[in-house]
Amino acid sequence: MSTDTFEGRVALVTGAGSGIGRAMAVAFAAAGARVVVADIETARAKETADSIGAAALPVAADISDEASVAELVRAADDTFGRIDVLCNNAGIMDTMARPVDTSVEVWDRVLRVNLTGTFLVTKAVLPFMLRQGGGSIVNTASEAGIRGGAAGIAYTASKHGVVGITRNVAWMHAKDGIRCNAILPGPTMTGIGGDAPNWDAEGLAALQPILGLNQSIAQPEQMAAVAVFLASEAASFVNGAIVPVDGGWSAG
Ligand code: NAD
Repeated sequence: MSTDTFEGRVALVTGAGSGIGRAMAVAFAAAGARVVVADIETARAKETADSIGAAALPVAADISDEASVAELVRAADDTFGRIDVLCNNAGIMDTMARPVDTSVEVWDRVLRVNLTGTFLVTKAVLPFMLRQGGGSIVNTASEAGIRGGAAGIAYTASKHGVVGITRNVAWMHAKDGIRCNAILPGPTMTGIGGDAPNWDAEGLAALQPILGLNQSIAQPEQMAAVAVFLASEAASFVNGAIVPVDGGWSAG
């Protein structure tokens, strides 16, 4: 992507303190955008913003909390006065447990962050895009957003929901010049599993027929490049697309 593709534009990336979100923030900045680097972990947001420089604004924000999201967009507005691109990327895993073994606590937490969080930030940012006469949203879903055997029930339901949000926003706001697309990353080298993932052994075994089909692990930059393309003018007629970025995993 040429360095001036997003000149004068502002991108807001959630979960930008680590992994795919950090790579997205860096990639949008490299393409000329000013970037709002949002993460629930303040230090991580600062680290990403420091690596970008003056074009980045670090903001500590919890996407699952409406008041925190309101603060986030206010900070973006105060500093940059506009939001052209939204990457709804922040997300958390479940425990990979079978439905029968999944606690209501895990269900509530994963749905609250991955699904409600995506809705809350989208709802808060859309007025900027409507006011500006357009914009582009890229949601980070997952292979678990279109298949049942790639994660536990909470994560699977949440990412199917993100696919639904993507299609609904794409349809409802097409005439407003707002596009909304989703990427479905295959396994990517990030911090999402934690240092010692507390995954349920029985659930993990049940998922092996699908997880075992995966042939390779991606780098976060391979996800970010597709997000930058989808948000760019080069993808001006791509709206409501659900794009696997998985090295062929889902083709098998
Ligand atoms: P990561 O853990 O490296 O990064 C996620 C970031 O989101 C972290 O910095 C974390 O602090 C932040 N975050 C978590 N909850 C938050 C909240 N409530 N508000 C704001 N920020 C919050 O993980 P990642 O793999 O880069 O994950 C990014 C997205 O990619 C997630 O939506 C995830 O579901 C999706 N995804 C990842 C993979 C993979 O293999 N890594 C595969 C498919 C989809």
